[in-house]
Amino acid sequence: MEYTDHTTRPFRASTHFSSSSTLLSYSSALPPSLPRTAVWSPCAACRVLRRRCTDRCMLAPYFPSSEPLNFIIAHRVFGASNIIKSLQELPESKRADAVSSMVYEANMRIRDPVYGCAGAISHLQNQVNGLKAELAMTQAELLIMQSQQQQQIHSASVWEDINLSSDWK
Ligand SMILES: [Zn+2]
Repeated sequence: MEYTDHTTRPFRASTHFSSSSTLLSYSSALPPSLPRTAVWSPCAACRVLRRRCTDRCMLAPYFPSSEPLNFIIAHRVFGASNIIKSLQELPESKRADAVSSMVYEANMRIRDPVYGCAGAISHLQNQVNGLKAELAMTQAELLIMQSQQQQQIHSASVWEDINLSSDWK
């Protein structure tokens, strides 16, 4: 996955940046007094929070600079410090899932300020209940049809028996 690669990848200096024009322009825009080793493509979170992003940035694996909206939305609803606090309380293996659920929740809250995620959940629950009722109706109809079919087979065989016995007379 991209985020694990991002965290474990050893930091590389100028050769790394020469491959990308945007990174190059970013690094050249930095003041010359800044040590070369401190240059790091800022993650979406650090860019929004206007802080320096390092290779040890906790948010960088989950908020890559390629998807700035995810952090903007999550930050607007939860706040950066709450996001960081939540992630710190979780084992690393759970953090990516936590971030994607927070982004989802934040998106829903912005779209539906009254119900947020709960609106989507209750809509889906209503759908499930409706489908359950429909399924129960269909199963009941199927049972009726099956019993009707069995009755027809039974009455047909009775008629056959009558006809056969009348032939013998
Ligand atoms: Zn960062």
